[in-house]
Parts: sequence; structure tokens; C-alpha cells
Amino acid sequence: MKNLPTLVIGAGPIGLAAAAHLYERNEDFLVVEKGERAGSNLLEWGHVQLFSPWQFNMNSAAKKILHNTDWIEPEADKLPTGKEIVEEYLEPLSKLPLFNGKILYHTEVTAITRKNKDKMKSTDRDESPFVIYVKSKGQTKKLEAKAVIDASGTWNNPNPPFADGVWQDEDLKHRNITTIPNIQAEIEKYKNKHIAVIGSGHSALNTLNDLAQVKELYPETTISWIVRKQQVQEAFGGEESDALEARGALGTKTHKIVDNGVVNVFTGFHVEEIEQGVKGFTVSSTNGAVVHEVDEIIVNTGARPDFSFLSELRLKVDPAVESTPQLAPLIDPNLHSCGTVRPHGEEELRHPEHNFYIAGVKSYGRAPTFLMTTGYEQVRSIVAYISGDVEAAKKVELKLTETGVCKVNPAPKQLQIIGVSDCGDGSSG
Ligand SMILES: Cc1cc2nc3c(=O)[nH]c(=O)nc-3n(C[C@H](O)[C@H](O)[C@H](O)COP(=O)(O)OP(=O)(O)OC[C@H]3O[C@@H](n4cnc5c(N)ncnc54)[C@H](O)[C@@H]3O)c2cc1C
Repeated sequence: MKNLPTLVIGAGPIGLAAAAHLYERNEDFLVVEKGERAGSNLLEWGHVQLFSPWQFNMNSAAKKILHNTDWIEPEADKLPTGKEIVEEYLEPLSKLPLFNGKILYHTEVTAITRKNKDKMKSTDRDESPFVIYVKSKGQTKKLEAKAVIDASGTWNNPNPPFADGVWQDEDLKHRNITTIPNIQAEIEKYKNKHIAVIGSGHSALNTLNDLAQVKELYPETTISWIVRKQQVQEAFGGEESDALEARGALGTKTHKIVDNGVVNVFTGFHVEEIEQGVKGFTVSSTNGAVVHEVDEIIVNTGARPDFSFLSELRLKVDPAVESTPQLAPLIDPNLHSCGTVRPHGEEELRHPEHNFYIAGVKSYGRAPTFLMTTGYEQVRSIVAYISGDVEAAKKVELKLTETGVCKVNPAPKQLQIIGVSDCGDGSSG
């Protein structure tokens, strides 16, 4: 075991931060990434401007390594786009000599188990290496590791538009848009069309504001906004009281286009069916409301973790949130309108499977409130623990700006832990 590396799944911001911490602690590591380059999920929404400035989007260990090169640190207060995060931070990091041969691209993890042990076998389980099945160029290979950090994100597993949470028709997944489309670059597709946006998180707000610009130029464009919330105001967030100014501004801008009638809002709309006919899509709700003749449907209802490749591991997952049970009460959207999360690290992210961790946005399960800065602290603590520095693992420090947008709903007293607040891409219906 001693000579085996720690395997990190995903070369996104959190996976690469984990690798940087492992390097800093002289721990051998290997990153496997199914895409062709670092940050491949961010590139899918590369045109979107983040609402957290650069200073919150970079990891301390990664920065330390980059500062030993001729890398120019982006301005702390500027707001990057997804593409800029990749081009100005993740790519320079991933191309450093220390990562030579340490990131396997086009390599997808398909299963993880323990050597010679299925899930049932307990004897010497903790001392057995992990065996990671990966698919690369059509071939399946096995890798071994002493620990695994799964930072594979949730972006590739979008939530359906349907209120019951089931993708009723796989075909529909491909016919509808489940990303944040680059509307300005595809204006021909949207101009003078009827577009329905489903969802009320930040992804949906971005999409709506881009569509509003199309409508300004092409007034025949119709925008329908379908939300489960009874009151659309809830989707606007803290607006001017949000300490992350850009996130507040997104809410304010959306508030304005709704007030000005640019967007037709359908509240309390639980999508039951989507049918395609000659005149476009018909979207029906469980209580009989219908949106007719829709040309394009954009599903911005968030994403959920993929546990399919983890089925041979012993996980402990909250039944609703799908994070670890310790983390769930801090981020459960049923309890908080916005995540009110105290700093957390290795201990809160621990599973019964020794030395296996889920970090990054996937660690939040279905909760829509993750911020990169939270993930950076998670992997700092996890890596400290893996390398035997229990004291550093326990000393979790996370400074986040107060958002002023978090409304805590009545909840059992022990769940009302007030700490720092983070509101990520709150994408849900
Ligand atoms: C539109 C949008 C805006 C956001 N804005 C902000 C913001 O302003 N501030 C903020 O802090 N956060 C923001 N977030 C939230 C969050 O910080 C990002 O989603 C961030 O990318 C999460 O990083 P990650 O490393 O956990 O996951 P990802 O960036 O999703 O990286 C996961 C990586 O794993 C790879 N992968 C997946 N499955 C496998 C597999 N089986 N095998 C191998 N590789 C695999 C993927 O290809 C990907 O490269 C935003 C999110 C979205 C969607």
C-alpha cells in the first residue's frame, strides 16, 4: 500500500487542488480525467461569468506551485468566466512538469472496488488497495491506489425537468438542452422563437437574462419561465444584500425583466409531461396548467451525483441530500433557502470505506449551494489526513463572505448551525 498513489477522479478545480495538496505533502498521486483537458466541465459553460471573484476561485497549494513559475496571477477582485478559469488557472497548473504523466486524460472511471474483496468482505478490508477500473480508448484497465478522492462533479448527470425527479424518456434528455447554452453565439436558434426555461437556480437566471437580450433585438421572441416555487421572488435571492455582488446583481437583473413583463412566469408549476407535436413542445403541469407551442426547452434544474461506479464501496449517504449524513443538515435546501455551512473537512466527509472520499460539488449531493472555496478546504483536510497529519486535517478553516441571503426555515434546533454562508449554482426547480 505504501508505494501506491492516491487516485483523484476528475481534473476539475477540486481534483487539481487535491493533486496540488498531495504534491505539497510529497504524496504520490494520479489524476484520471475523462475529458481531453483540465476543467472540461467548466468549458461546457465557459461563456458564463462566475459570481465569485478570482480570489475565491483558486486553491492555496496550487497558487503556491504556480508562483514558482512565470504564471501571472489573475486580479483578485475580477470576475472570471468558466473559460477564463480554465485558461488562466487550471490549464497552466495542469501543464506544469510535476503533472507530467500524472494526469490521464480520456480516461473514465467505471468501477471502484478493493483488491480481491467485494463489498461484503470485511477481513483486512482497510489494508487492501483500491482497484479502479478505467476505460481509455475503448480498453478497460485496472489501476491500484491506497486512497481515492472522487472529485468527478455532477455536471454530467443533470436533473430532469419533471417534478417527480425521473427522466421519463431518455430521448428527451438529448432533445432538450440541459446546459447553459451560449445564447449570444447561437442567436439564430433563439430569435423570434418561444423558449421555455425550467428551473430557478443561478443557471436559469443566467439563461433568462441572455434570452432577454435576444428579445430586445427580436421582440417576437417569447420567454416562458417555469418554476416549482409558489413565489418567483424566492428565486431572486438576496439581491443588493448579497455580499457576492455579482450573484446579487443576477437576481436584481432577473427581478427587473420579470417586473417589465419580458418573461412570462409560471409559478407553482410541477412539470408532469412534455410532449412534442407539429407545433412544438407542450409542457403540462400536475395541476392542469399548460405551456403550448414551445420551440426550445432549456432545462436548468441542477444536477445530481452519479453513484453508479461506486456500488462496490461502502458508502454512507443521506437518503435525501445524497451527501454524507454529517454534511446533509448543513446544506439541505429543505431547511435552508441557501446553504448555511460551517467549515467542514475530512471528518464530515468520511465514509465507512476507509480512505475513500467524495469531494467538490459531488460531495454536496443534490444540494445546490456548493462553492469552490469550500471544496478547496475539503481537499486540504482530506489530503492532510491521508498523509497522516490528523491535526492539520481537523483544523478546518474556511473564510467565506457573509451573504446576507440565507433565510433559515424552522428546523430542529441542533440543525440551526449558523456559520459562514455559501450559495453556489442553486439550480433546482
Ligand atoms: C454555471 C455555474 C456557475 C458556477 N459559478 C460558481 C461561482 O461563481 N463560484 C463558485 O465557487 N462555484 C460556482 N459554481 C459551482 C462549482 O464551483 C463548479 O461547478 C465547479 O466546477 C465544481 O468543481 P469540481 O471540481 O467539484 O467539479 P467539476 O468542475 O465538474 O469537475 C469534475 C471533473 O471530473 C471529470 N469526470 C467526471 N466523471 C468522471 C469519471 N467517471 N472518470 C473520470 N473523470 C470524470 C469531469 O470531466 C470533470 O473534468 C458554478 C457552477 C455552475 C454549473
